[in-house]
Amino acid sequence: MAAILVVEDETDMCNLIRHHLEGEGHTVFQAFDGPSALALVEQQSPQLVILDWMLPGLDGLTVCRRIRERHLMPIIMLTARSEEIDRVLGLEVGADDYVVKPFSMRELMARVRAILRRVSLDEQALGPIGGPLDATNATTPGAAETAPTDATAGVIVRGALRVDPTTHLATLDGAELDLTPKEFDLLLLFASHPGRAFSREFLLEHLWGYDYDGFDRTVDTHITRLRKKLGPLGENIVTVWGVGYRFTV
Ligand code: CA
Repeated sequence: MAAILVVEDETDMCNLIRHHLEGEGHTVFQAFDGPSALALVEQQSPQLVILDWMLPGLDGLTVCRRIRERHLMPIIMLTARSEEIDRVLGLEVGADDYVVKPFSMRELMARVRAILRRVSLDEQALGPIGGPLDATNATTPGAAETAPTDATAGVIVRGALRVDPTTHLATLDGAELDLTPKEFDLLLLFASHPGRAFSREFLLEHLWGYDYDGFDRTVDTHITRLRKKLGPLGENIVTVWGVGYRFTV
């Protein structure tokens, strides 16, 4: 069961979604505009955000982008037009999934279940990813019970690449990669979230804990070295102009 934030200005729709989510045992927070959605994300650290594109004032696109500056939790966007899908899932916005309006509650609930299942797999590898970044590595109650007992659980495999967060070992075609701890952390984050773009600011805060003014080069330098160590696979770490980096599979 998860804490889920629903952002939609149409009250009836917002309540309907809430009703169905609560029926599945989730805790639901509601926001009817962008600024309160951003405030609730900070206060409640929901594990999932369902976000309507069309909001008064601050639109869903902007809200999504703002959330992504600091948070990794999955975001499902509700869009009215299928032409918006590329933008929603692309680097411009950074949502994880979308549902086109009008949609059935059954469809939305299926997406929610699929995303939450995926996140719980990610968390086995990475630790809780719903909360603010400074709490990402904090121990959470219940983490011990959900931690995999199988030593191979949580290992991320992307083609020839294998990243084991428990042993801090990364191998490519079975050969161990000689990575610094920061390079390993970068690779683990990328491999756990293929297709997602990370800004330099995000990477700095998340992996280095810096205030990011003036430190952009730090990330670039590490990426360059990591790419080199990955050989041909290094090309899968793609520079996203004006944004940062993304790992493709
Ligand atoms: Ca709306």
